[in-house]
Amino acid sequence: MVLVYLVKPRSVESCEEEKKGAFPPLGLLYLSSAFRIYGCSVKFYDLDFTKVNGLVDDVSSENPEIIALTSTTPSYHNTVKVIQRVREASPSSIIVVGGPHATLVPEDFRNVADIVVVGEGENAASEIVESAVGKHLKKPIIKRPPVEDLDKLPFPDRSILNIEQYHENIGAMFTSRGCPYNCLFCTTRFIMGRKFRARSPINIVEEWRMLKKYNAPKIRS
Ligand code: SF4
Repeated sequence: MVLVYLVKPRSVESCEEEKKGAFPPLGLLYLSSAFRIYGCSVKFYDLDFTKVNGLVDDVSSENPEIIALTSTTPSYHNTVKVIQRVREASPSSIIVVGGPHATLVPEDFRNVADIVVVGEGENAASEIVESAVGKHLKKPIIKRPPVEDLDKLPFPDRSILNIEQYHENIGAMFTSRGCPYNCLFCTTRFIMGRKFRARSPINIVEEWRMLKKYNAPKIRS
Protein backbone atom coordinates (compact mmCIF):
# COMPACT_ATOMS: atom_id res chain seq x y z
CA MET A 1 0.00 0.00 0.00
CA VAL A 2 1.29 3.47 -0.89
CA LEU A 3 1.97 5.50 2.24
CA VAL A 4 1.32 9.24 1.97
CA TYR A 5 2.45 11.81 4.50
CA LEU A 6 0.48 15.07 4.34
CA VAL A 7 2.27 18.00 5.95
CA LYS A 8 1.17 21.49 6.89
CA PRO A 9 4.32 23.54 7.57
CA ARG A 10 4.38 25.86 10.56
CA SER A 11 2.33 28.99 9.99
CA VAL A 12 1.98 30.53 13.43
CA GLU A 13 4.65 31.22 16.00
CA SER A 14 4.59 29.22 19.17
CA CYS A 15 2.06 31.43 21.01
CA GLU A 16 -0.62 29.21 22.56
CA GLU A 17 -3.28 31.87 22.06
CA GLU A 18 -2.56 32.01 18.32
CA LYS A 19 -2.83 28.24 18.05
CA LYS A 20 -6.35 28.39 19.47
CA GLY A 21 -7.37 30.17 16.27
CA ALA A 22 -6.02 27.37 14.04
CA PHE A 23 -8.29 26.15 11.25
CA PRO A 24 -8.22 22.59 9.94
CA PRO A 25 -6.27 22.51 6.64
CA LEU A 26 -9.23 21.73 4.39
CA GLY A 27 -7.12 21.52 1.21
CA LEU A 28 -5.03 18.70 2.68
CA LEU A 29 -8.13 17.00 4.06
CA TYR A 30 -9.70 16.96 0.57
CA LEU A 31 -6.40 15.60 -0.75
CA SER A 32 -6.42 12.85 1.87
CA SER A 33 -9.88 11.74 0.65
CA ALA A 34 -8.57 11.76 -2.94
CA PHE A 35 -5.52 9.64 -2.05
CA ARG A 36 -7.71 7.15 -0.20
CA ILE A 37 -9.73 6.59 -3.39
CA TYR A 38 -6.48 5.17 -4.83
CA GLY A 39 -6.00 2.87 -1.84
CA CYS A 40 -3.32 4.94 -0.10
CA SER A 41 -2.70 4.99 3.61
CA VAL A 42 -2.46 8.58 4.90
CA LYS A 43 -0.74 10.21 7.89
CA PHE A 44 -1.04 13.91 8.67
CA TYR A 45 1.37 16.29 10.42
CA ASP A 46 0.40 19.84 11.38
CA LEU A 47 3.72 21.47 12.26
CA ASP A 48 1.93 24.19 14.20
CA PHE A 49 1.42 21.44 16.78
CA THR A 50 4.04 18.77 16.01
CA LYS A 51 7.78 19.31 16.10
CA VAL A 52 9.53 18.94 12.76
CA ASN A 53 12.01 16.51 14.36
CA GLY A 54 9.12 14.13 15.07
CA LEU A 55 8.11 14.26 11.41
CA VAL A 56 11.70 13.70 10.29
CA ASP A 57 12.11 10.68 12.63
CA ASP A 58 8.90 9.11 11.26
CA VAL A 59 9.92 9.83 7.64
CA SER A 60 13.29 8.24 8.24
CA SER A 61 11.80 5.05 9.72
CA GLU A 62 8.78 4.65 7.41
CA ASN A 63 10.11 6.03 4.09
CA PRO A 64 6.66 7.05 2.80
CA GLU A 65 6.31 6.82 -0.97
CA ILE A 66 4.78 10.33 -1.07
CA ILE A 67 5.29 13.38 1.11
CA ALA A 68 2.87 16.15 0.13
CA LEU A 69 3.03 19.62 1.64
CA THR A 70 0.77 22.62 1.37
CA SER A 71 2.37 26.05 1.03
CA THR A 72 1.30 29.58 1.78
CA THR A 73 3.43 32.66 1.12
CA PRO A 74 4.04 33.41 4.84
CA SER A 75 5.11 29.78 5.38
CA TYR A 76 7.25 29.57 2.20
CA HIS A 77 10.67 29.55 3.91
CA ASN A 78 9.47 27.05 6.52
CA THR A 79 8.14 24.86 3.74
CA VAL A 80 11.48 24.81 1.92
CA LYS A 81 13.32 23.96 5.15
CA VAL A 82 10.91 21.08 5.88
CA ILE A 83 11.36 19.75 2.35
CA GLN A 84 15.15 19.80 2.77
CA ARG A 85 14.89 17.90 6.08
CA VAL A 86 12.54 15.19 4.81
CA ARG A 87 14.52 14.82 1.57
CA GLU A 88 17.64 14.09 3.59
CA ALA A 89 15.73 11.66 5.83
CA SER A 90 14.14 9.72 2.96
CA PRO A 91 15.75 10.34 -0.45
CA SER A 92 13.46 7.79 -2.13
CA SER A 93 10.21 9.61 -1.23
CA ILE A 94 8.51 11.70 -3.88
CA ILE A 95 8.02 15.20 -2.52
CA VAL A 96 4.96 17.09 -3.73
CA VAL A 97 4.06 20.66 -2.94
CA GLY A 98 0.76 22.41 -3.63
CA GLY A 99 -1.44 25.05 -2.06
CA PRO A 100 -1.70 28.81 -2.61
CA HIS A 101 2.00 29.70 -2.94
CA ALA A 102 2.78 26.77 -5.25
CA THR A 103 -0.18 27.78 -7.41
CA LEU A 104 0.79 31.45 -7.56
CA VAL A 105 4.58 31.07 -7.90
CA PRO A 106 5.35 27.46 -8.90
CA GLU A 107 8.89 28.38 -10.00
CA ASP A 108 9.74 29.04 -6.33
CA PHE A 109 9.70 25.27 -5.84
CA ARG A 110 11.68 24.37 -8.95
CA ASN A 111 14.62 22.21 -7.86
CA VAL A 112 13.11 22.04 -4.37
CA ALA A 113 10.16 19.62 -4.72
CA ASP A 114 9.77 16.74 -7.21
CA ILE A 115 6.24 17.69 -8.23
CA VAL A 116 4.52 21.07 -7.96
CA VAL A 117 0.72 21.00 -8.15
CA VAL A 118 -0.79 24.17 -9.61
CA GLY A 119 -4.49 24.64 -8.94
CA GLU A 120 -6.90 22.33 -7.15
CA GLY A 121 -5.06 19.17 -6.18
CA GLU A 122 -7.78 16.53 -5.87
CA ASN A 123 -7.60 15.58 -9.54
CA ALA A 124 -3.81 15.31 -9.42
CA ALA A 125 -3.85 12.46 -6.89
CA SER A 126 -3.90 9.63 -9.46
CA GLU A 127 -0.93 11.08 -11.36
CA ILE A 128 1.04 11.56 -8.15
CA VAL A 129 0.38 7.97 -7.07
CA GLU A 130 1.39 6.70 -10.53
CA SER A 131 4.64 8.66 -10.29
CA ALA A 132 5.35 7.23 -6.85
CA VAL A 133 4.60 3.64 -7.84
CA GLY A 134 6.52 3.83 -11.11
CA LYS A 135 9.31 5.94 -9.56
CA HIS A 136 9.26 8.22 -12.53
CA LEU A 137 8.26 11.85 -12.61
CA LYS A 138 6.24 12.40 -15.71
CA LYS A 139 5.71 16.09 -15.03
CA PRO A 140 7.51 18.22 -12.48
CA ILE A 141 4.56 20.63 -12.66
CA ILE A 142 1.01 19.26 -12.69
CA LYS A 143 -1.64 21.83 -13.60
CA ARG A 144 -5.21 21.01 -12.82
CA PRO A 145 -8.26 23.05 -13.88
CA PRO A 146 -10.82 23.95 -11.22
CA VAL A 147 -13.17 21.14 -10.20
CA GLU A 148 -16.44 21.94 -12.01
CA ASP A 149 -18.89 19.98 -9.89
CA LEU A 150 -17.90 20.31 -6.25
CA ASP A 151 -20.65 17.86 -5.20
CA LYS A 152 -18.61 15.08 -6.82
CA LEU A 153 -15.72 15.52 -4.37
CA PRO A 154 -15.65 13.25 -1.34
CA PHE A 155 -15.93 15.18 1.92
CA PRO A 156 -12.70 16.31 3.57
CA ASP A 157 -11.10 13.48 5.55
CA ARG A 158 -11.23 14.82 9.12
CA SER A 159 -10.30 11.37 10.48
CA ILE A 160 -6.61 12.28 10.11
CA LEU A 161 -6.89 15.27 12.46
CA ASN A 162 -6.25 15.59 16.13
CA ILE A 163 -9.64 17.25 16.64
CA GLU A 164 -8.77 18.96 19.94
CA GLN A 165 -6.13 21.09 18.24
CA TYR A 166 -8.68 23.05 16.21
CA HIS A 167 -11.03 24.00 19.03
CA GLU A 168 -14.21 25.66 17.78
CA ASN A 169 -12.96 25.86 14.18
CA ILE A 170 -13.34 22.14 13.52
CA GLY A 171 -16.66 22.91 11.79
CA ALA A 172 -15.03 24.97 8.99
CA MET A 173 -16.27 24.00 5.52
CA PHE A 174 -15.74 25.05 1.92
CA THR A 175 -19.23 25.67 0.53
CA SER A 176 -17.96 27.23 -2.71
CA ARG A 177 -14.79 27.98 -4.66
CA GLY A 178 -13.82 30.80 -7.03
CA CYS A 179 -14.79 34.46 -7.19
CA PRO A 180 -15.42 36.88 -10.11
CA TYR A 181 -14.52 40.03 -8.16
CA ASN A 182 -11.29 42.02 -8.04
CA CYS A 183 -10.62 43.07 -4.45
CA LEU A 184 -7.04 44.27 -4.57
CA PHE A 185 -5.86 42.50 -1.44
CA CYS A 186 -7.31 39.10 -2.40
CA THR A 187 -5.78 36.23 -4.40
CA THR A 188 -8.84 33.98 -4.56
CA ARG A 189 -9.37 34.59 -8.29
CA PHE A 190 -5.77 33.59 -9.04
CA ILE A 191 -5.89 30.47 -6.89
CA MET A 192 -9.43 29.20 -7.48
CA GLY A 193 -10.39 31.01 -10.65
CA ARG A 194 -12.98 33.65 -11.46
CA LYS A 195 -15.90 31.29 -11.89
CA PHE A 196 -18.02 31.01 -8.77
CA ARG A 197 -18.77 27.35 -8.14
CA ALA A 198 -21.14 26.45 -5.32
CA ARG A 199 -21.92 23.12 -3.71
CA SER A 200 -25.59 22.21 -3.62
CA PRO A 201 -27.44 22.84 -0.35
CA ILE A 202 -28.10 19.11 0.09
CA ASN A 203 -24.41 18.29 -0.28
CA ILE A 204 -23.51 20.94 2.30
CA VAL A 205 -26.12 19.68 4.75
CA GLU A 206 -24.78 16.12 4.38
CA GLU A 207 -21.32 17.26 5.44
CA TRP A 208 -22.85 19.36 8.17
CA ARG A 209 -24.62 16.26 9.55
CA MET A 210 -21.33 14.37 9.46
CA LEU A 211 -19.73 17.13 11.51
CA LYS A 212 -22.04 16.28 14.41
CA LYS A 213 -19.83 13.36 15.33
CA TYR A 214 -17.00 15.82 15.96
CA ASN A 215 -19.24 17.94 18.22
CA ALA A 216 -18.39 21.02 16.18
CA PRO A 217 -19.58 23.96 18.29
CA LYS A 218 -19.84 26.28 15.27
CA ILE A 219 -20.28 25.65 11.56
CA ARG A 220 -18.32 28.13 9.45
CA SER A 221 -18.34 28.51 5.68
S1 SF4 B 1 -13.25 36.35 -2.46
FE1 SF4 B 1 -11.72 37.95 -2.59
S2 SF4 B 1 -12.14 39.02 -4.54
FE2 SF4 B 1 -13.95 37.80 -4.01
S3 SF4 B 1 -15.30 39.25 -2.91
FE3 SF4 B 1 -14.12 38.11 -1.36
S4 SF4 B 1 -12.35 39.40 -0.96
FE4 SF4 B 1 -13.23 40.13 -2.91
